[in-house]
Amino acid sequence: MGTDQEVLTGFRAEVRRWLAEAPRPEGLHDYGPTPSPEDVPTGRVWQRQLHDAGYACLHWPAEHGGRDASVADQAAFAEECAEADVPRQLNIVGPDLVGPILMRFGTEAQKEQFLPQILTGADMWCQLFSEPDAGSDLAAVRTRAARQADGTWIVDGQKVWTSGGVGADFGLLLARTGGSGHGGLSVFVVPMATDGIEIRPLRQMDGEAKFNEVYFTGARLPADAIVGEEGGGWKVATATLGRERLSLGANAVGMFRALAEILEAADQRGRRDLIADGVASLWVRTWLLRTTWERAIEEGAEPGAPAFSVLKLLTSETYREIGDLGTEALGADAAWSEDDEPLVRRMLVAHAQTILGGTSEIQRNILAERLLGLPREPARQP
Ligand SMILES: Cc1cc2nc3c(=O)[nH]c(=O)nc-3n(C[C@H](O)[C@H](O)[C@H](O)COP(=O)(O)OP(=O)(O)OC[C@H]3O[C@@H](n4cnc5c(N)ncnc54)[C@H](O)[C@@H]3O)c2cc1C
Repeated sequence: MGTDQEVLTGFRAEVRRWLAEAPRPEGLHDYGPTPSPEDVPTGRVWQRQLHDAGYACLHWPAEHGGRDASVADQAAFAEECAEADVPRQLNIVGPDLVGPILMRFGTEAQKEQFLPQILTGADMWCQLFSEPDAGSDLAAVRTRAARQADGTWIVDGQKVWTSGGVGADFGLLLARTGGSGHGGLSVFVVPMATDGIEIRPLRQMDGEAKFNEVYFTGARLPADAIVGEEGGGWKVATATLGRERLSLGANAVGMFRALAEILEAADQRGRRDLIADGVASLWVRTWLLRTTWERAIEEGAEPGAPAFSVLKLLTSETYREIGDLGTEALGADAAWSEDDEPLVRRMLVAHAQTILGGTSEIQRNILAERLLGLPREPARQP
């Protein structure tokens, strides 16, 4: 859907040719933004191949090994990867969140140590922000990092919903180094193999286990593990979330593919008439989202701009509607059918889109306050 009729030129043609010819690691498939533990080894090999061919972290500046790629080229690359059923990168956290965050807040030594390893897939990263009592209200984080006399840090606490925790080499941790509130938070680089870190997988309703709980019990981090300033963690965390929204807003590729699969599934069951209107309106909406996203980036909107909250909100709600439409296309088969497993799985995970990276309600709050100028929410009491 979308690209078959185009006359292929330039970058897109080059990418399509490369994807057709590149050897595929066995078992590689488009696993989305986070690999399952069993997909991590193939994902790493693939990231290495992308790097060697010059397609790793296209959006990074050339000085850090990227390609300074235009938005159009990034979108073309993502679309071609989706068509070829391969992931566009190892996972979302290293290339899309940690890389740009280290470029902005990291020391020269951190950039030197970590950026090349993200590019080649040698290191996979996870994001250690959410806690059982600190999700939307992220400033309520309680995991504590206490500075020791020798400058090292001892971390105690619990994180949850850590995507890709099993398989990750490093995590970006938000922890409390001072008193309550935003000013008491700092961000750290955490080697996941550190003594005192325990990772417990959580099984999701779609059967996969991409999420984890991560427990810290007296885990010691080196003095230079801090990213940015002590007490400056809120700025780093919000910049990270801004990048997450920017990245999640770019989901159009998967949405077009899902709509094509839904049509096919409906055709096989003689149910096209039931879903045709829905597919048409969601297809148009997806195009609008894609072009709005491109425009926002081309006009220079910063990752934390409200524009990306609008896009995150509308994209994830549209994704959820596409998931629901899939169940209409399948009819009774949606209960479970091995043949339609990808569509059933897509329907199940679609609902997660409205939660991850800041829920739809939180995006609406941001819009109400920052775009519409409505009164701010009363601050929560600590
Ligand atoms: C697929 C997926 C991947 C994720 N990956 C990671 C990861 O890798 N690392 C990580 O740190 N976290 C991750 N998360 C966690 C995610 O960031 C949190 O789930 C999210 O921020 C919401 O927090 P919560 O689950 O604690 O819900 P809560 O904050 O408890 O919210 C519960 C409900 O209350 C609503 N609500 C809360 N506060 C307000 C308010 N002020 N106004 C209106 N409504 C409100 C919410 O919208 C929601 O509907 C992931 C989540 C998902 C679904």
